[in-house]
Amino acid sequence: MANSSFAAPIAAKSRLEGKVAIITGGASGFGESTARLFLGHGAKVIIADVQDDLGQALCKEFNSDEAIAYVHCDVTIDSDVKNVVDFVISKYGKLDIMFNNAGIFGNANPAILDADNENFKRVFEVNVYGGFLGAKHAARVMIPEKKGVILFTASLASLISGETSHAYSTSKHAAVGLMKNLCVELGQYGIRVNSISPGVVATPLSQNLTGMDKKMVDELACASGNLKGVVPEAEDVAEAALFLCSDEAKYVSGLNLVIDGGYSTTNGTFT
Ligand code: NAD
Repeated sequence: MANSSFAAPIAAKSRLEGKVAIITGGASGFGESTARLFLGHGAKVIIADVQDDLGQALCKEFNSDEAIAYVHCDVTIDSDVKNVVDFVISKYGKLDIMFNNAGIFGNANPAILDADNENFKRVFEVNVYGGFLGAKHAARVMIPEKKGVILFTASLASLISGETSHAYSTSKHAAVGLMKNLCVELGQYGIRVNSISPGVVATPLSQNLTGMDKKMVDELACASGNLKGVVPEAEDVAEAALFLCSDEAKYVSGLNLVIDGGYSTTNGTFT
């Protein structure tokens, strides 16, 4: 194994040492779990969310103005997204990772004839336009540096149809389409662009949607998943985000990484 580039093992706990990451929707659910994991791996984390109480409480818990900050940011407002990116540049001088994770489900699955037009527009505004703005402002500061990582949270609903909702499912298909387009455009600047697509995982979003507590959503995920008996946690989604944002994935771009216990391979709908 002479000349092997695998000779030096990567330190287990420092996969994002020195990196600066914005996490939209970082005050709750997958975003919060990812923030905790990224901090544990040495990253500076900026939470961009509209839930000020939760975001500020998370910062207080870590008690470090250097490692974590909260900035109020509605991802559907251009000036808010610009502001959080500008804040990061003024504080840290760079942005390595833009995690466009904020998302909403909107109304539960009405048939097309009953579907609410405003709901459809709002779901697109947050899940697609919000990611577009995040990518645009991140690219503004990453292109001159000729490096960076942009990650989107899509969903299993970006791959299969069925009992989610027209607005949600279509918005997540669109998020993956946006990711692929950006991958093609930004590769010339050394910027990697990927997405993650989790299946059903207990978070405030899935609990509010189903009206179930965590235990019930866990049971639902366990029963409907392909990987029987395994409970998916928000931390499992965060681990996938960590891989795609770390240098271990330095040649991975344009990937929609599915975290669904193999469910999408069964070609079913949610049951
Ligand atoms: P969550 O509700 O716990 O977190 C979503 C966060 O996004 C919240 O903190 C919320 O305040 C924030 N947010 C919503 N609208 C915003 C806006 N306009 N501007 C800024 N922040 C905003 O839910 P979650 O399950 O952690 O969801 C995170 C992402 O994962 C979403 O994109 C969601 O569609 C996706 N997802 C969730 C599941 C699941 O089963 N939980 C499965 C697949 C994909």
